[in-house]
Order: sequence, then C-alpha cells, then structure tokens
Amino acid sequence: MTTREGRLRSHDYPFLMQRWRRLARRGGLQMSKFAESGGQEIYCLESPRREGGGLYLSAGIHGDEPASVVALLEWAESEIPFLQNFPVLIFPCLNPWGLIHNCRLDCGGRDLNRQFHTARLPQIAAHKRLLAGRQFEVAATLHEDYDARGVYLYEIARARPFLGEQLLGAASQCLPRESRASIEGRRCRDGLIRRRITPETMKQHPEAFVLHFHHSLRTITLETPSEFSIHERVEAHLAALRAIQSFLVFQNKSGHPASR
Ligand SMILES: [Zn+2]
Repeated sequence: MTTREGRLRSHDYPFLMQRWRRLARRGGLQMSKFAESGGQEIYCLESPRREGGGLYLSAGIHGDEPASVVALLEWAESEIPFLQNFPVLIFPCLNPWGLIHNCRLDCGGRDLNRQFHTARLPQIAAHKRLLAGRQFEVAATLHEDYDARGVYLYEIARARPFLGEQLLGAASQCLPRESRASIEGRRCRDGLIRRRITPETMKQHPEAFVLHFHHSLRTITLETPSEFSIHERVEAHLAALRAIQSFLVFQNKSGHPASR
C-alpha cells in the first residue's frame, strides 16, 4: 500500500492502531490503552526514554479532523530513532468513535476539547492522570478547521524562544497561510494567534489550557483547512511536526535545553 492509499483510510481506526502497534514494537515504545469510549479503546504511546523534559503530541480529539491523525502516525513511522532517543508522549487519536463516524463530538455528543476543566469524564480523568508530574518543552495538539482558508496556529508560551512562526513557515510550504485577520474574536497575524490565557479565559477548558497551566512551556494548537485535499493537509501537519522536532534537537544540542 502506498502512502497516498493509506491516507484514504483516515477514518479506519483499527487499521491506524494496527500501524501504531507495529511502530511501537519496532521502536520499543510502550503503547497502552488508557480509556474506552463508545466501544473503542483509546491509546497512548511513550518513548523508552523518560528522563528530562520532552514532547507531547495529540491528534483526533475532534473526529472530523482526520489529517491530524494520519500525519501524526506518518511522522512517527518515519522518525523511530528520534522517538527512541527523546522523551515523547503521544496520544494518536483521542476520539476514536468520532473518527469512525466522521463526527467532531464523542459518542455522548460532547466536545472533548471543552472538557478539561473537570475530571467528570473517565477518559479525561485518565488522560490527566497520565500527565501528572510531567513537564514538556513543547506540546502540540493537532486539529483541522472547516472555516479556515489556510493553515494557522495558536501559540501559548511561558518561555522563549517562541516557535509558532517557525512552524507556520514550514507548514505554509504545503498550504497557504490563513488570511483572516481575526478568528473567533482573536487577532490572527499571518496565521499566528499568540494567546495569553488565564483559567477564566474560557469556562470550559480545551486540552491546550491544561497543558499550558500545568505541563508545557510552549503549547501549540495547529489547524489545517478542511476544504483542501487530505494530502495537502497531512503534508502541512508533517511539515510542522518536523519543525517541532528540529527545534527540540537544536535546542538540546546547542546546550540550551528548551526547558531551561
Ligand atoms: Zn479541532
């Protein structure tokens, strides 16, 4: 099967998880089921190296955003040595029921990305337990947007150097940058929305809020425009993931761990 054929099975959850299991075996990553929802098992993967800061990646919290899920898998399949040598925690698909049904919401009609202010949902409670005590240099949550005209991202950072501009530069090799100057009332400059947030900014917290408040120095929410082809959208996510990887490798090699 070619890469392009694989991308056309972007809602085939068992097929995607089979590929993750193969990858985990090859790379010595630990793949574990941490929750269940809508009759589907939800997994996380952890690289064998645990010490130090690291990288957090997640995709598919909205089931109608399949390029995020495919890109994360393709990136991981091509970067096994990095995954073996750098502490990485991966959530390959946070809403499998939604992915299978091509639906933003979960099986209970909930937007999972507005549930992180509580631990009422067992899936969110289990997710938070996995994060307890963990610190990441970079956390990226991968999304898509039906209203988008181009690629854009939110960056919430507690430390410099920022990395949003670098990621957009890479992703915009594959897709135009978002042209809107304002997205949901927030100023968007050439696709970049830099946010300062407090727990009061939104009543119902997205995943990125928990990451920013408790676990990550730089939190990125990347969005690709759903109206473009799956291939262009996957390529844009891949380019951004590679840019994050280069950023981390450079920071750590130059003796300036991004976590300092
Ligand atoms: Zn989304």
